[in-house]
Amino acid sequence: ISVHRFQSHWMSEILNQIPGPLLQWYDSRARVLPWRSQPTPYRVWVSEIMLQQTRVEAALPYFDRFMAALPDIAALAQAPEAQLLKLWEGLGYYSRVRNLQKAARQVMEQWGGMLPQKLEDLIALPGIGEYSAGAIASIAYGQRVPAVDGNVLRVVSRLLASRENVMDPKVKRQLRQQVWDIIPAQRPGDFNQSLMELGALVCLPNGKPLCSDCPLENLCLGNRLAIAQELPVKPPKKARRVVPRTVFVLCSQGRLLLHRRPSRGLLASLWEFPGQDGHLSLEQAAETLAQAGIQVSSIASLGEHTHIFSHVEWPMVCYQVECLPFPAAEDYVWCTPQQLQEQYALPSAFRPFAQRLHLTP
Ligand code: SF4
Repeated sequence: ISVHRFQSHWMSEILNQIPGPLLQWYDSRARVLPWRSQPTPYRVWVSEIMLQQTRVEAALPYFDRFMAALPDIAALAQAPEAQLLKLWEGLGYYSRVRNLQKAARQVMEQWGGMLPQKLEDLIALPGIGEYSAGAIASIAYGQRVPAVDGNVLRVVSRLLASRENVMDPKVKRQLRQQVWDIIPAQRPGDFNQSLMELGALVCLPNGKPLCSDCPLENLCLGNRLAIAQELPVKPPKKARRVVPRTVFVLCSQGRLLLHRRPSRGLLASLWEFPGQDGHLSLEQAAETLAQAGIQVSSIASLGEHTHIFSHVEWPMVCYQVECLPFPAAEDYVWCTPQQLQEQYALPSAFRPFAQRLHLTP
């Protein structure tokens, strides 16, 4: 027990020393980002949800477009689904934007259009977990609460040279509490952001921390013991399921056929080019279409593309098919290339094929 006490005392000693140099570093090095220069609750919330699965550089143009189209919670609550999905097109994990809207509607009804301030009230909203709630409460409302994401877990486990599994909820809880204990009362939001920023710019993942550029170089136990690049410890990832697919871009009289995916599961309710599981050769593809009663005038390969989701991988082959027009069944629509551009959200899995199309009017 005494060894354990000594260790935790030692770790608190290290952690207690980090806010000063970290905030100083943050003041001079932090990136200027639109949600940082104007950290209103709505902007912080949308940015945090966007950044959950997306890199900052990729999110920036989306964020600006989103704010221009839906400048406040009331506008988000009322937006038509097609507009929402179009604004999110290509970002993936579309349940994020659906939950944003559900939460916005709840905020309108329950909180008079103002995001609540308390951690537990924020967590009660759809799509807002412990991390996002902490980020909103600390950054937008100046509360002394932690916001511990993967970046912060990595930084803290390296600082403490912790070899414990950071995916273990108990370990996460402990690290979160350790961060909570050292948040300065004056600048809680900046402190949380400084930890995240350090993880994003210096204490890089995949064994590549830039320790010689780090303001915590001399404090960091992982660096001093030369084990930082081995941390954090995570259990091995499960292999992704591989599902080969054949995709058809059916074209008729300058229009393309889109299919709306089922309302549950992967890419729920989003538009796609129709397709089926398995890889078909060009001859097999032509035969399959003929059997479905489609009168094909020409068929050509649009090549291959593999799209990787978090748990599934789709190696796809794709055929562009010119055919005689036929009525679109339920959940299908014929659209012009311009409508595809402006109106229908096409997930990035299918974009390479859309770019390779040769359309004849
Ligand atoms: Fe990360 Fe290295 Fe800084 Fe430690 S010294 S926090 S390992 S970058």
